Amino acid sequence: MRATTLCKRLLDLDGINVAKVDIEDQMVVADVTLRRRRLDCSRCAFTTRSRYDTRRVVSRWRGLDLGRRRVSVRTTLRRLRCPTHGVVVEGVPFARTGSRFSRDFEDLVAYLATKADKTTITRLQRVDWDTVGRICERVVADGLDPARLDGLVSIGVDEVSWKRRHNYLTLITDHTGKKIVWGAPGKDAATLDEFFADLGAERADRLEAISMDMGAAFIKSATQNALNAVRCIDPFHAVQLVTEALDVERRKAWNELRQLPDQNAAKTFKGARWVLLKRPENLSEDQTATLRRLRNQGGAVWRAYTLKEAFRAIFAGDLDEHQSATALDRWCSVSSRSRLPAFVRVAKTIRKHREGILAAIRLGINNARAEGLNNHVRLITRRAYGFHSSTAALALVMLSCGPIELHLPHERARA
Ligand SMILES: [Zn+2]
Repeated sequence: MRATTLCKRLLDLDGINVAKVDIEDQMVVADVTLRRRRLDCSRCAFTTRSRYDTRRVVSRWRGLDLGRRRVSVRTTLRRLRCPTHGVVVEGVPFARTGSRFSRDFEDLVAYLATKADKTTITRLQRVDWDTVGRICERVVADGLDPARLDGLVSIGVDEVSWKRRHNYLTLITDHTGKKIVWGAPGKDAATLDEFFADLGAERADRLEAISMDMGAAFIKSATQNALNAVRCIDPFHAVQLVTEALDVERRKAWNELRQLPDQNAAKTFKGARWVLLKRPENLSEDQTATLRRLRNQGGAVWRAYTLKEAFRAIFAGDLDEHQSATALDRWCSVSSRSRLPAFVRVAKTIRKHREGILAAIRLGINNARAEGLNNHVRLITRRAYGFHSSTAALALVMLSCGPIELHLPHERARA
């Protein structure tokens, strides 16, 4: 077999003829020509047989590595006039518009981005992290099905912080499909309004339930746009609020202990943080022993802990609507008389959102499931911290938790 035929087979790119291959020390350079005569607009489906002029534009793409060498694919492209986009350089079948990488290369990087950390990917694929971000954006733009917003019945709205405290992404979860179906930078009413604009009035009217946190911004937009939907408070957020109240009480008790001459008591107590915040069924043997010590010590922190666990139990899924309502009311009244300031405050908030919390229980908006997806989203946004643009961070979230099926090069059907 001739070297060029061999290289062409190994390059395995759609719709090209390989004219010449140079194997250099670090790189394989392939000069190729497009097999097809017609010219495709690189930005839409427009196709023509006539060129705009005789000018040719030299372009290069990086393909999948061959052995330890990088692959560079080089060709000259013609120009055409698209009725929508004006004079443009023709698109190629083996790469996405605006990309300097082959589709295969991008699919591989996008897959890796959902599975591995920054250092692994940038070292393995020899690209910088922002390039990975831009690749994620293109793969998402290419693979996101617009029909994913059809037939939504029960959705959740959530915000995650990205990068530092003041960067947020608003994400919409399809509770039925357990996927993130929409996202945008920002976290106010206007951000959620954007989602409803994309959804359109007809599909919005068919929403039956919309769950969210207790902030006013989302509630306002949901009230205006989803007229038939029951507004629910995600149990996840309610539990989170109560857990934070416990943490406030724990810190206060610890600071009081630190003032005492016996410093050992304070030290033991500091290690107690995770013991108190974790679910008791997830504790190690040592942690369970610490929990027992805290119980024997009693006092405000132990009372706060039992209140947190009692609150969590309301959402365990074994109470009917009436029982949940009774349990929630009882919890609020015990908490407001607890003489724990953080719990008195949180009981007031919970009471204010009572109907929304009970609606979530009634409609079966499952806490554990939401929490699982939530934890995954948080893991992914942490990985996206190094990106410079929020659209790249959003793209990584959609790739990992959205309705996109990623295919590796060997899994994709060839043209
Ligand atoms: Zn066009």
